[in-house]
Amino acid sequence: MEASREFVYQKFAEYYKDPSTDIPSPPNPEQREFGYLMFRERFMVRHKRFSSIKNFRTILADTIPSDVYHSCAYYENPDLEMDKKNWIGSDLVFDIDADHIPTTCNKIHDEFKCQKCGFQGRGITPESCPCCEGTKFDTKIWACDLCIQSAREEVFKLVDMLENDFGFSRDEYSLYFSGHRGFHVHIENETVRSLDAMARKEIVDYVTGLGLAVLEKETKEKKSKSKKKTSNNKFMLHDFGWNRRIKLGMKDFLSDATRKDLKEVGLKNNALVDNKDTILSRAIPEGRWEMVNGISDLTWLKLAEYVRENQAAKIDTVVTTDIHRLIRMNGTLHGKTGLKKVQFPASALHDFDPFVGAVAFKKGAVKVLVSDSPEFRVGGETLGPYKNQTVTLPTAAAVMLICKRRAEVAP
Ligand SMILES: [Zn+2]
Ligand SMILES: [Zn+2]
Repeated sequence: MEASREFVYQKFAEYYKDPSTDIPSPPNPEQREFGYLMFRERFMVRHKRFSSIKNFRTILADTIPSDVYHSCAYYENPDLEMDKKNWIGSDLVFDIDADHIPTTCNKIHDEFKCQKCGFQGRGITPESCPCCEGTKFDTKIWACDLCIQSAREEVFKLVDMLENDFGFSRDEYSLYFSGHRGFHVHIENETVRSLDAMARKEIVDYVTGLGLAVLEKETKEKKSKSKKKTSNNKFMLHDFGWNRRIKLGMKDFLSDATRKDLKEVGLKNNALVDNKDTILSRAIPEGRWEMVNGISDLTWLKLAEYVRENQAAKIDTVVTTDIHRLIRMNGTLHGKTGLKKVQFPASALHDFDPFVGAVAFKKGAVKVLVSDSPEFRVGGETLGPYKNQTVTLPTAAAVMLICKRRAEVAP
């Protein structure tokens, strides 16, 4: 194992010592806190201040970290303790990670084992162990194409809201692959810098569709005025913002829904599928919610509630609201994969391939003993699956498997 860690360390060292390695500077580096996790010693160095990215690069080349971060925040004194830093502002940052998206693949490729009692399972790692309530786990987490694709779909939803609902233009937000199995969206615009945690929470609620006003208000009115129907509690959706999104979601869901699907989501009204054509072509687009007999306002509300979930962007809410957050630095390596965090243009969101575009180690090959690996892609090559096999792999693939504790350098 030591030899394997040493191999990865040497590769990280080559990367950080190479003057041609591209590590772009975030805006106003002198106002940010920098931090990094030491590769060998495994501890976090924080509260560092650098007047320029050039100085920071010297430190990276000297210390060789496994992971590198900077604050989303701007401070008067980024190198002092938290309460003396004097917060000036913060970028608005969104983190979309397969960890927070229920995918069908995580049950297959993710494993966890309780450090205290040894309880193990597959899928999303629980907050605490169901056997001993311990909170520390050894995890084996994989990043497959389906993970990336699921995260990408959430980014599409987020970006749609940023552009169409918040009015940001494409050049006001930046998209990044996170280096593992997700994406980051940064807004480094003056207009967002001064937003406090409360304001950011409002943005998070909007993006995740929490407490959607149209639905809440309607339901409450329904309850209080259930005896007397009034004109202002009719089900109604506009053509912008979440209203538009819910209409789209309804169309998406109904277009291939069966009676069984309806039952599964708690909608017992078969009129929704029996009149599908009319609903899709007229009722939803024209907002004629009363035109199909047997579908009440309450049914529409229930359907709207259900599709809201699908239309919400599944962001890691904590990252966006934390105004002191450290975020992985663009151009640096992820300690769990050896891939880079890397920026790509919004126009490439459809087809940016992290297993090509984020590859840092493009040369050489190395012989490794792979304990267990699903099929995977790196640098345009499809490799595996492997089980207790000695194989010669391209450097990037070997680094990834070692970082994920699925392989060791062959003796
Ligand atoms: Zn346990
Ligand atoms: Zn996956």
